[in-house]
Amino acid sequence: MLYGIISDIHSNLEALEAVLRDAEQQHIDSFICLGDIVGYGASPNECVQQIRELTGHVVVGNHDYAAVGLTDISCFNLYAKRAVMWTAKVISAEHSDYLSKLPLTAQVDDLFLVHATPSDPPAWNYLCSPQLALIEFDLFQGRCCFIGHSHKPVIFSQRDGDLPWKNEVLMCSPDERYIVNVGSVGQPRDGDPRACYAIFDDQAGKLFLRRVTYDVQAAQRKILQAGLPPVLAIRLAHGE
Ligand code: ZN
Repeated sequence: MLYGIISDIHSNLEALEAVLRDAEQQHIDSFICLGDIVGYGASPNECVQQIRELTGHVVVGNHDYAAVGLTDISCFNLYAKRAVMWTAKVISAEHSDYLSKLPLTAQVDDLFLVHATPSDPPAWNYLCSPQLALIEFDLFQGRCCFIGHSHKPVIFSQRDGDLPWKNEVLMCSPDERYIVNVGSVGQPRDGDPRACYAIFDDQAGKLFLRRVTYDVQAAQRKILQAGLPPVLAIRLAHGE
């Protein structure tokens, strides 16, 4: 099975559509979405619609729950808060209902899915170091755990800590377990503005990181036209 794994779309329709076009050429069998479909960008309804049509394998992100009033936003920064409030105002009742019913975790075959961490999904902690990852390996079932949330792609192996993406491909050992952050489709923060997603071939044990160029300026224009904070448009050009 060839899985296309996407996360942190953040209402960026231009990035999502570019990723789906790329994925079509890769002949993906099944898609997985790790949450934060909305927040920051200007196309929440369009992005939720696309994800609903794409797959049933979806877990919720903190911005999804925030947009429907299901998580505390006191720790959100000012720009994130303004985007949450704007999203809550424009999201349709039907899509709001959909977001409110998304699960915090899911298991798809041998893969465990969560937006932030397996140990405490609704705490929305960041999993950024091999030391923190080590604790998490005991708290999920299966061979691989896929996460998002930090918007920075990284792989942790249970045995060897953090691993480099050599030429954006990783050959997985059959007897090893992994936690993989697939990066962000709609707001990458690793200095590369291209949309990011992952492909996992569970038969061959191969993990691919895909980077996809998209129309950043179109996404920026929509953010400004919506009256969202300009910084949310500017950061897209820098991948931060
Ligand atoms: Zn996010």
